[in-house]
Amino acid sequence: MKPDGVLPSFPNNFPSNPYFVTCSLHNLPPEFHKNIRRPTAVLSMDSHHHLVNKYSRQAPRYTSYPPAPHFLEMEDADQAVQLINDRNEAPRPLSLYVHIPFCASLCWYCGCTKVITRNDGDSQAYLERLFAEMKAMKARMNPGNRVAQLHFGGGTPTFLSPSELRETGRVIRELFPFEDDMEFAVEIDPRRLTEDHVLALSEIGVNRASIGIQDVREDVQRTINRIQPMEINEQVVRWLRQAGIDRINVDLIYGLPLQTRRSFEETLEAVKTLDPDRFAIFHYAHVPWMMPSQKLLDRQPMPDAHEKFAMLEMMISNLTHSGYSYIGMDHFAKLDDELSLARGNGTLQRNFQGYSTRADTDIYGFGMSSISQIGDGYLQSVKDLDEYYGRIDREEHPWHRHYYLSGDDRIRRHTIMRLMCDLEIDFDAIGERWQIDARSYFSDAMESLEDMSQDGLIGWTSGGLRVTDAGRMFLRNIATAFDAYYADPEKKARYSRTV
Ligand code: SF4
Repeated sequence: MKPDGVLPSFPNNFPSNPYFVTCSLHNLPPEFHKNIRRPTAVLSMDSHHHLVNKYSRQAPRYTSYPPAPHFLEMEDADQAVQLINDRNEAPRPLSLYVHIPFCASLCWYCGCTKVITRNDGDSQAYLERLFAEMKAMKARMNPGNRVAQLHFGGGTPTFLSPSELRETGRVIRELFPFEDDMEFAVEIDPRRLTEDHVLALSEIGVNRASIGIQDVREDVQRTINRIQPMEINEQVVRWLRQAGIDRINVDLIYGLPLQTRRSFEETLEAVKTLDPDRFAIFHYAHVPWMMPSQKLLDRQPMPDAHEKFAMLEMMISNLTHSGYSYIGMDHFAKLDDELSLARGNGTLQRNFQGYSTRADTDIYGFGMSSISQIGDGYLQSVKDLDEYYGRIDREEHPWHRHYYLSGDDRIRRHTIMRLMCDLEIDFDAIGERWQIDARSYFSDAMESLEDMSQDGLIGWTSGGLRVTDAGRMFLRNIATAFDAYYADPEKKARYSRTV
């Protein structure tokens, strides 16, 4: 660490970093090339072991800052209401998240907030409360607001019947007018999906589908209690494309029981035949102390941190040689996808739904357990279904936790989000934006950053730092250097491991 907190400058060494090779496969403008690189994953076995041993630690995923475990119990909603009123003085674009919690069966790895039920009728009771919650929020909103992004997540949104999906789409559109080029995404579980579901999604304006696949091998599927033959995935993708829903994401998980580098490569090869636009390949978060059903997986052999790291290296190499760019964390997108373009032009955003291309949209979450991000505040709804119903029936707000950013939180949130999205930090730009000397402001981060520089995870630049290709695999670790709350041992225990 430099005693004065001034970053060492390495303006010339970064491009020669051994983990770093510039893309030369496509004809896109230089700004685009700047951030779309084909990692070569040339870590030696020794470096690999050293890095995995040192950096396999529990850390947040930084879909918010501070991370959700730091949100506070809400005693009254006055501040939340004031925040919403302030943000609705002028019209603005919105992002809406709608949580549908129901699933027909339990996947044993699941870390989501869900309700397992075989009773199709449960969803009607839920929708009545969901619509009531939306109507109450609509009354607080500026009538000129327009929806730029709409996301149905869960649980399983397609647990709803086709007619319930049509009804939900109709109610939302009546309450919240859509922008013409709005992105409307829905998470899909192919196992119970019918062609009529797909037609209903198309009719209500869905234009992006995220298909949960996780792993195509039957032995892994049996172990996680999620049987899903590849033919079903193929059928669903065909239906979606025929219905005009042609923006296709696929969700996979690595780190599950029985998976190996080799087996996961089989999964990747099979899924590539579906030709998705994006991959989200999540690192399995084994947190049985928070999700007791995950204990069911403890009986099976799980890949260790070294094997998982090898899987990550393999998928980066495989996909970046197959026409996808590595967006960051667990996301890959085709080179001409808007996520890749946003990465190239510095407009990529990160929020509770992962990476996004829409800046400056407040996110309003609806449904149990949903989180809203409105200006400098976060509001989280209750996670218990009966409590959610009770609050809505009594015409109360559904939030039980909240957080409002301090001045320091705002600077750190901006810095961490730029790191996660741009894979670099420009201290001069941060200093100018927040009217601080950013190098001094983050002097407490310098010791660990210098250590990561020695390990080849970051390179110093004249303006700040840039994440190397090796460092991309430890992005969460790098971000912790800027996290003022990371040292809290009680909260840290709630995070999954980075590798
Ligand atoms: S379908 Fe999704 S939300 Fe439901 S149990 Fe499986 S992983 Fe969890």
